[in-house]
Amino acid sequence: MRKILSENYYLVLAGGVGAAKLIEGLAHLIEPELLKIIVNTGDDIELFGLKICPDLDIITYTLANLVDKEKGWGFVDETFNCLDILKKYYDTGWFNTGDKDLATHIYRTDLFKQGFNKIEITNLICQNLGVKSHLIPMTNESVETFITTPTQTIHFEEYFIKYQCKPEVLGIKFKGIENAFPPKNTLELIKKAKKVIICPSNPIVSIGPIIQVRGIKETLSLVKEKVYAISPIIEGATVKGPADILMKSLGLKVSCLGVANYYKEFLGNFVIDHKDCDFKPKIEKLGIRTYCYDTMMINLEKKIELAKFIINL
Ligand code: GDP
Repeated sequence: MRKILSENYYLVLAGGVGAAKLIEGLAHLIEPELLKIIVNTGDDIELFGLKICPDLDIITYTLANLVDKEKGWGFVDETFNCLDILKKYYDTGWFNTGDKDLATHIYRTDLFKQGFNKIEITNLICQNLGVKSHLIPMTNESVETFITTPTQTIHFEEYFIKYQCKPEVLGIKFKGIENAFPPKNTLELIKKAKKVIICPSNPIVSIGPIIQVRGIKETLSLVKEKVYAISPIIEGATVKGPADILMKSLGLKVSCLGVANYYKEFLGNFVIDHKDCDFKPKIEKLGIRTYCYDTMMINLEKKIELAKFIINL
């Protein structure tokens, strides 16, 4: 069998806001060209006739240093004049997209119409915004996350933004995942990376779709000793977002142990918050090396500290 030589780049699995915090820290320590990021596209949605990729945009704007750091998404110094008028035309005005952000959606949609695919378009957006790291959409194929509530089945973004995660969750479906293949060379990139880092993202709807793309989970399990994840759950709660509700709906315990159980097939190393250190023996029993650290990234210093800790492990 051909020996796979390890190279010196880091391969990161990312969702949106939670991932962007760690990625900002990593970007301060690693040459941009050595950062390759597989991004969830399960949140992608078409609204106002425009193709929108929320997680790709959050990571792109973060690395371009253009993100609104308060919100964690969208452009800094954004205005919402176009959305005000869109709301008069469409009933999908609940999706908060600013004037500058709309420019990205228009550009992406135009490129799609010209025949470019999601990978090529992501590269062009990154190039034009000065992002030198390699952003890889998890798949070129369309995958969309749907949530079933007692009254209807709705897109995840609608559940998240319009309904503020209030309806009871009866089911989660990644529409199109059966036909989703990873971009060319992605599996090889996983095998050859110096480390694979799974961001503290929503395990169910951000990391969940990525690991269900054909071959990703199996490839991660082949190299699990160099796979590192950071728990998005601290003291039995999410820092933000519905990870707790979605974990519960799948029958998982809402704790770092619950996340470890969900990832155990392909996870070799887990960084849990120092406040959760009591869980360490139970997680290690799953065969996962476990480290305790302050994972609450409240400012840039904390983001860099956590990134440094993971790089040095
Ligand atoms: P989204 O797609 O925009 O919701 O973003 P992600 O899926 O990337 O991140 C959401 C997850 O990030 C949530 O489960 C949060 O608990 C987690 N998160 C956000 N900030 C932090 C933080 O500072 N530390 C840790 N450990 N988790 C965080």
